This record gives sequence, C-alpha cells and structure tokens, in this order.
Amino acid sequence: MTGEGNKKKENQKKVILTGDRPTGRLHVGHYVGSLKRRVELQNSGEYDEIYIMIADAQALTDNADQPEKVRQNILEVALDYMACGLDPAKSNLFIQSQIPELTELTFYYMNLVTVSRLQRNPTVKAEIQMRNFEASIPVGFFTYPISQAADITAFDATTVPVGEDQMPMLEQTKEIVHKFNSVYGEALVEPEILLPKNQACMRLPGTDGKAKMSKSLGNCIYLSEESDEIRKKVMSMFTDPTHIKITDPGKLEGNTVFTYLDAFSKPEHFEAFLPEYANLEELKAHYQRGGLGDVKVKRFLNEVLQAELEPIRVRRQELMKDVPYIYEVLKAGSEKAESVAAATLARVKKAMKINYFEDENLLKS
Ligand code: ATP
Ligand code: MG
Repeated sequence: MTGEGNKKKENQKKVILTGDRPTGRLHVGHYVGSLKRRVELQNSGEYDEIYIMIADAQALTDNADQPEKVRQNILEVALDYMACGLDPAKSNLFIQSQIPELTELTFYYMNLVTVSRLQRNPTVKAEIQMRNFEASIPVGFFTYPISQAADITAFDATTVPVGEDQMPMLEQTKEIVHKFNSVYGEALVEPEILLPKNQACMRLPGTDGKAKMSKSLGNCIYLSEESDEIRKKVMSMFTDPTHIKITDPGKLEGNTVFTYLDAFSKPEHFEAFLPEYANLEELKAHYQRGGLGDVKVKRFLNEVLQAELEPIRVRRQELMKDVPYIYEVLKAGSEKAESVAAATLARVKKAMKINYFEDENLLKS
C-alpha cells in the first residue's frame, strides 16, 4: 500500500474521539462508563489529540421535534464535562452540528453499508424498541451508526473510550473503514474501542434496576444532583426483592446497590464510612450470609456517592457563573474540529477521485 493517503501505523498519532448526546444532563452511568476514563487519559499525557463531541445532530435523530431541549442540553453537557475535569487546554470540546464535513462523510459512507446490516445492530434494535419507533423509525435515527463512523474517522481516532452499548457502533465503523480502504485505497484509520476495566461500569443499571441507566428512561442519578436528591434516590433503589427480613440471606446478582458499590466504592470509603468491614468482599459475604439489612448498605452507598459527586457539583456551580466562557470554549473547539475534519474529507474525496477540480487528470475525457 503506497500513496499519500496511506496512514502508516508506526508513526500514527494517538487520537481519542468520544462524545455524548445532549438529551439531558450527564449521569453517573456516563461517568463510570466513559467520562472518568477520558479525564484519566487526558491527564496521562499519552495522547496527541483528544476530541470530545457533543452529539447534537445525533440527538436530533430521535428528538426532531425538540430542538430546544437539545440546544439547552449542550450547555448542561459542557458544564458536566468541565466539572468532571475535561480541560479545554488539553481536550478539544466541540459541537457536532457545527462540523458540516461530518454530514458529507456520512453521505459517502452510506453507500458502503446495507440496510440489512443496519437492521442487525443490537443497540439500535433495543433503542428502537425503547422509543416505540417500531412502526415509524426516522431514517436519520436508523442510520446514526454510519454518522458515528464519520465522527470517529473524521479525526483519525485510534481510541474510542465508551460504554458497552457502543460496541456495535465500533464494529460498524471498522467495517466501513475496511470497506472504504479496500475500495478506494487506504485513507481511513481504524479505531479501537476502549471499554471500562470494571465490569460494573460497562453498562451501569438504572436506580430502578433496569438494564441501563439512561437519560431517556428517567432512572438516573445525575452528576449535578443535589445531595438530598442523591440520598432519596439511593434509599429507594432496587435491591434483592426476596431479602425481606434482615436475617434473610441476600442475593448480589441483579442487586443494583451492590453493582453501584462495585462501580464506585474504594477501600478508603470503608475506612471513612464503614470501618467494621475491611472491604467490599467482606460486606458482600455478610449480605449473602444474612444479617445485613439493605438500609445499612444503602447508607454506605449514599456516603460513597456523596463523596464522589460533591467535588463535581461544586466545580459545576463555579463554572455556571461564567456561561459565556463555556460557549467560547465550544466555539473555539468547533473551529479546530472543523479544520481537522475538512482535511479528512479532502483526503476521502481524493481517494474516491471526486476532487474533480483539484486534479487535471480527472477532467480528461
Ligand atoms: P440517550 O438515552 O439519549 O441515548 P444515554 O444516557 O444512553 O442517552 P449517550 O449520550 O447515548 O447516553 O451515551 C454517552 C456515553 O455514555 C456512551 O459512551 C455510552 O456508552 C456511555 N453510557 C451511557 N449510559 C451508560 C451506562 N448506563 N453505563 C455505562 N456507560 C454508559
Ligand atoms: Mg444512548
């Protein structure tokens, strides 16, 4: 493989691309599934470029009649990002719709994907069901995995830190990259998914015990949640329905409170809030034996979450005092992102030989 469009692996830059739909404020599922990791990767200094995208165009694919909701949540998501430690000096924060090149790339990639392939995507299938779209799926929503491939490849992303629900999207992106590179010549970089290390963080359940905490299901603990609300939500969380008396043995499988402890608790939390247990294993063993009540475990989880979320909430409140600054960050980030995506689009069009007016040879009869 030769040619200017060829991307060499050896000196390939390490680039992160990931993002969130501005359909609501971010919740603790986003935090453990992707956001926390992004901040660690950002601060590791190991990446050459980091792009964090607020996917408003994708949010509109299933919120076409609610542009105002999407617009308002752009600010909420940006505040959540920066409150968690994403630093605009190190990570490029931008708004998807401001990069028209992404739409153009999507249009060309659409030709490389079949309808039946899209229909097989398990995440899209589940989301269609969740939104009761069965009879009337917006075409834009149906094709959003292709638009995600455009988002990822536009920045030559090598690493995509996301939750487990994004696995089919990454698979789809890789297929598009392979197909594009084999049909038109090597122009696109193949990305790798980076899943959470901790099993409980792959797909954090909702407070109702449902399979996934999701903005659209209303079963979330938000990063910006007030302390009282966190406590109320934790105390009414789903546990083991057969654990009725304290003396009853309790089950851990499907027990949301323990899943959250798996995701959030650290040894120092035990020292600070529950010193009679050395670690989570001991607490779990006692619960399974019987003799440990849900309320005690929930109180501990509440302390853990309060300790994790308080600094985020405080920083967010500070950031809210200067909203124009947040928009400046997004504007500058979007300008930078557009220039990078434009270079990729030019490379793509060149590979496809549809850059007619840049190459005399293409204008000959
Ligand atoms: P929507 O309901 O609008 O789709 P969402 O809550 O699913 O919203 P997204 O914006 O679709 O959030 O997802 C953003 C990122 O957060 C993705 O990387 C996704 O994998 C991750 N994520 C979302 N929910 C969870 C969860 N419950 N556990 C772990 N990761 C999650
Ligand atoms: Mg989602």
